[in-house]
Amino acid sequence: MEEIRLKARAKINLTLDVTGKRDNGYHELQMIMQTVGLYDEIVLRKIPENEIRLESNVSWLPADNRNLAWRAAELMRSTYDIKEGVLIQIDKRIPVAAGLAGGSADCAAVLVGMNKLFSLKLPAKKLEELALTMGTDIPYCVRRGTVLAEGVGEVLTNIEPPCPFCYVVLAKLPVSVSTAKVYQSLKWDQVEHHPDTKGMLAAMAEGDVPAMGRLLGNVLETVTIPMYPKIADIKESMLENGAEGALMSGSGPTVFGLFTKQERAKEAAKILRKQFAMRDVFVTQIYHVPHGKKERRTTD
Ligand code: ATP
Repeated sequence: MEEIRLKARAKINLTLDVTGKRDNGYHELQMIMQTVGLYDEIVLRKIPENEIRLESNVSWLPADNRNLAWRAAELMRSTYDIKEGVLIQIDKRIPVAAGLAGGSADCAAVLVGMNKLFSLKLPAKKLEELALTMGTDIPYCVRRGTVLAEGVGEVLTNIEPPCPFCYVVLAKLPVSVSTAKVYQSLKWDQVEHHPDTKGMLAAMAEGDVPAMGRLLGNVLETVTIPMYPKIADIKESMLENGAEGALMSGSGPTVFGLFTKQERAKEAAKILRKQFAMRDVFVTQIYHVPHGKKERRTTD
């Protein structure tokens, strides 16, 4: 095999809670993560030169070791003594620094792709371990689907997928948010309203979409919304335009709305684009990943 094509999909947080802080400064998290259809397309190609080259359609995205996809290729090359080089081509569609884990998804896809391209035959569990050395969301991005992530993001529990036909509208203000800064500014012990993670898991198990809508919750909104109050207006507009629920994803600024009808989702997206003069508005779907006993990460 000389080349491999992968889809690196975005995620949303149905819940995001911070339950403590470790001595090393890392936050203890409890998050229900869900993959959505929106993806970056990645091609990995073997090249004879002993190096990593990265090209993307976003001119200002770093193409060196500051790029998580580059770092993933380097980690695999050094860990498994791979002598051949690799060209990484990224067609980015997931907005950058948006709370959708675009960089983490690219990183995870390159780990999976290198495993296949160089026939390393590493099990998914090993890829998740390698992923954790690169960032907290990355083990989840290797696994994907509907997952409860705890610890610092490394304790992953598969959950039955909710609302099989839910549509998701993603709306991103034209600002970038630094995840690190948001966590640094979070006064987690002063947060008044923590999401009801157990309640959300029960609503998901019952496929009760209106209850899911009500139970969406993200403690990071307490930091990012005061910085960008329009996020609250976007949530409001999503609800007024038929969403079952709306929430900021990750550290923001992207807001997602859950819809049961495609037409309503499309209509809401049209209104949001106009109302907030936003270009980055997408209609996508919950993306299911069947979690079998024998975990295998596909390239799709
Ligand atoms: P998360 O939800 O995991 O915090 P995010 O969606 O908020 O992620 P990213 O899109 O992953 O944010 O980008 C965060 C930073 O990572 C950006 O400043 C960007 O320059 C850097 N970065 C490194 N590699 C990539 C990549 N392949 N794609 C996007 N951003 C990348």
